[in-house]
Amino acid sequence: MKVIKCADVGFDCPGVIKAETEQEALAMAAQHAKEAHGVEEVSAEIVTKIKSVMTEE
Ligand SMILES: [Zn+2]
Repeated sequence: MKVIKCADVGFDCPGVIKAETEQEALAMAAQHAKEAHGVEEVSAEIVTKIKSVMTEE
């Protein structure tokens, strides 16, 4: 299972995203960033950052 801790991406947020696949995790992270942090467009830079903090659980 892929785990992304929102705080590790750089947000002051206790949110943790868990998904079965990397693709799903990225989609959920993008959705979360939009809804919780007002990030309208998840840039390649953010995707790279998310991938770098993603862990396997
Ligand atoms: Zn968050």
